[in-house]
Amino acid sequence: MNAQLAIAIDGPAGAGKSVFGAALASALQAICIDSGIVYRAVTWIAITRGLDPDHDATLGPVAASMNLQIIPPTVQDGRQFTILIDGEDVTWELRTPDIDRTVSRPSALPGVRSAVTEQLRHLARGARVVMVGRDIGTVVLPDADVKFYVTATPETRARRRADELHARGQEAVVADILRSIIERDARDSGRVTAPLRPADDAIHLETDNLTVDAEVAFALDVVQRTLRSANALETNDV
Ligand code: C5P
Repeated sequence: MNAQLAIAIDGPAGAGKSVFGAALASALQAICIDSGIVYRAVTWIAITRGLDPDHDATLGPVAASMNLQIIPPTVQDGRQFTILIDGEDVTWELRTPDIDRTVSRPSALPGVRSAVTEQLRHLARGARVVMVGRDIGTVVLPDADVKFYVTATPETRARRRADELHARGQEAVVADILRSIIERDARDSGRVTAPLRPADDAIHLETDNLTVDAEVAFALDVVQRTLRSANALETNDV
């Protein structure tokens, strides 16, 4: 098995990227890095410290210096990771509607993006990694071995997000979530720096009618075929 491997997974909010990414990483014995967490962390700091979420000169240095830790789950409450900022468990605080509404503002700032991109590349260097986000295949890891672009209709995505919130005992109105998702998609796709878009060489995966198992089986097949043909090319070159 190849030691180093980079799989990029991009797509709009609520398309199921994180669950898919974690399951694929586990099947490939790779680590899963969900880059949305980093942008959510910057946003959480901005909100809790009363900082302007649109001010790059303030938030760029915050992104570069924040004390963010992503560790295996410390509580079995449905979380994929435990997320600490300055040692404080903020795992669910990063998933509130307030963060959902605000996160694409700091994410549009060039200084924030370059700080986060640098950290993500550092984490991926030499590693076996599945990285999830909006610009992984286009900007962060343009040479990734395989790139997936995961989508689902806005209605499916809103329903999934509502189900997630209900599962945690929170109230959720699908119509409100749908509105918030559509706004976030528009901001993420419309920004100047690293907009949400599929890489030219990304494989598209529509997940409306797919189970996670089916997604992973499909993805594993693609990854294995791609690595096999890359190896064959290398062998022929010698
Ligand atoms: O994937 P998730 O919904 O957690 O991402 C939260 C937000 O972080 C996105 O809406 C987007 O604004 C930002 N983001 C980004 N680039 C990434 C990952 C996330 O701009 N690679």
